[in-house]
Amino acid sequence: MAFFAALLSLLLSLTPGLAPSQGAPAPGAPNVTVVLDNAAGADGRRALPTVSGARGSNRPIVVIDPGHGGPDPGATSPIDGIREKNVTLAIARAIRDELAASGRVRVALTRDDDSLIDLRERYEIARQLGAALFISIHADAAPHNDDAQGATIYTLSEVASDREAALLAARENAAGVIGGADLGADPGVNRILIDLAQRESMAQSADFARLLRREASPLVPFRQDYHRFASLIVLKAPDIPSILFEAGYLTNMKDVAYIESPEGRARIAAGMRRAIETHFARRMTRLTQR
Ligand code: ZN
Repeated sequence: MAFFAALLSLLLSLTPGLAPSQGAPAPGAPNVTVVLDNAAGADGRRALPTVSGARGSNRPIVVIDPGHGGPDPGATSPIDGIREKNVTLAIARAIRDELAASGRVRVALTRDDDSLIDLRERYEIARQLGAALFISIHADAAPHNDDAQGATIYTLSEVASDREAALLAARENAAGVIGGADLGADPGVNRILIDLAQRESMAQSADFARLLRREASPLVPFRQDYHRFASLIVLKAPDIPSILFEAGYLTNMKDVAYIESPEGRARIAAGMRRAIETHFARRMTRLTQR
């Protein structure tokens, strides 16, 4: 982080007209205005979701993203016919309720009903809320291997392709902010800033994956090979540490009984809360030691 900050300030000092934004939130402690209104905006854009827990505080915001939804059911369990989109929503709500009750972070869901959201819009919701952590919830399926069992955590395998970075740079205007620094008019510099922010986010994402395994493993069965890397669009927010959590296999009897039960969901939620609260406690410690 220190290396990243030093690089960033060097870059900014070399670039006239590109200065860190005034009052930019420190990592882990976003200071944002949150829209607490579910009505559709006048411009027809989807309104930002409700943020729960410790309302009005500066506590970090965690966005939980229930995978699939609406016309996209995700996988269907051959055991009981349940659809992944319903499993992910139930788990996400359990995590939200657990975090809101604890009150150490604020939390929002990308969807709280049976609707479909575009993959990029999912992380854009998190960016607009000023989220400090993004967790997408899914359930696995291995139709030809019903022994496959346990949870898996995915993080991004590489810095987003040039095309992704270019798309983002194109979408951002002069008011855009990446990793606490204003994006300026120079697309080349913007690309470098996006790239730097993403490398930092990827390192934090991998740290969080290891922490989640450690904190949740007494409660949640993980696969032996629990951490995998993939180029998943939903994880490509350049400035928010992001993971995709596959809660278990809809093709495995034990996993189905576990992830579809209120007790199983409560265990996942408790494991997530432990890891999330430890993650932010660590980050606060690092920030105050600088
Ligand atoms: Zn899925």
